[in-house]
Amino acid sequence: MNQKLLKLVHKENVSPSSDIYCFERSDGSPFEFVGGQYVILNTGNDSEGKPIKRAYSILSSDSKTDSFQICVKRLGTGKASSILPELKLGNELEYSGPWGKFVGDPTWPSPGFSLILATDTGITSLAGLLLSQKFSGRLDSTTAVWFKTKEDDFLSEKELKNLFKGTSNFPNIFQIPSVSDPNRISTVLEILKSILGDCTVPENAFLSGDGNIIREVRSELVRLGTLESRIGMEAFFNTQRNPAPNLSLGV
Ligand SMILES: Cc1cc2nc3c(=O)[nH]c(=O)nc-3n(C[C@H](O)[C@H](O)[C@H](O)COP(=O)(O)OP(=O)(O)OC[C@H]3O[C@@H](n4cnc5c(N)ncnc54)[C@H](O)[C@@H]3O)c2cc1C
Repeated sequence: MNQKLLKLVHKENVSPSSDIYCFERSDGSPFEFVGGQYVILNTGNDSEGKPIKRAYSILSSDSKTDSFQICVKRLGTGKASSILPELKLGNELEYSGPWGKFVGDPTWPSPGFSLILATDTGITSLAGLLLSQKFSGRLDSTTAVWFKTKEDDFLSEKELKNLFKGTSNFPNIFQIPSVSDPNRISTVLEILKSILGDCTVPENAFLSGDGNIIREVRSELVRLGTLESRIGMEAFFNTQRNPAPNLSLGV
């Protein structure tokens, strides 16, 4: 079997709960990907000998292929997110990818207004898309929105400004209640209503982050008229549908 390896070439602790890692391919060949895609890293085996494989969206622009960046949240009890901060420069990890058929499809986005919406750690795929070559000519018709909790220090505004320097688009940032708060989904839908109130229904959308939120947002967009086939979605957590009350924007 042909093992694919990545080598850690840079690592930066950007907040108490997050680190940015920069990898290049161990064989020195370019890492080609499309903004918004992700890699699956094998961070080692757990106590039962099962490989700990986790997905991470690529934060850096797809115009740079000698190396790429990911940002990982330290979850405290998380398996991979506890192992990764211990990596040393030069360490190698097995990987697969890049993955993400939807963003990789050259026919998406179609012409017209695009909405890129992320919650929490989903900001990584939002950044990857906004910085991508396919969005570079259409930032004027793209609205990017990031929903984060007040206490979340995953990527600071300063870090984001650094990432987006040189681009004409910057995500609109809104604070939302914590993951366990029952008002979280309704808060997002209210904000979404106010954003979409001023513009047309998105022709294209990409949603990432908390699965419980983005599934509701997708339903709303479909209800408003966005074609389901033009909505891409990556649930980073809460990947399974939880029984939740039916919420609506009421527009
Ligand atoms: C397509 C895709 C892209 C992803 N990209 C990123 C990324 O760019 N950065 C990143 O940090 N993570 C990302 N994730 C999440 C990542 O794959 C892991 O789930 C995460 O690092 C936790 O792994 P762990 O082994 O540390 O925790 P585990 O031992 O697997 O368990 C931790 C628990 O926390 C949940 N969890 C994961 N993320 C969060 C969160 N942000 N808030 C609350 N609970 C959470 C998990 O669902 C799980 O139930 C992505 C996931 C997917 C599917």
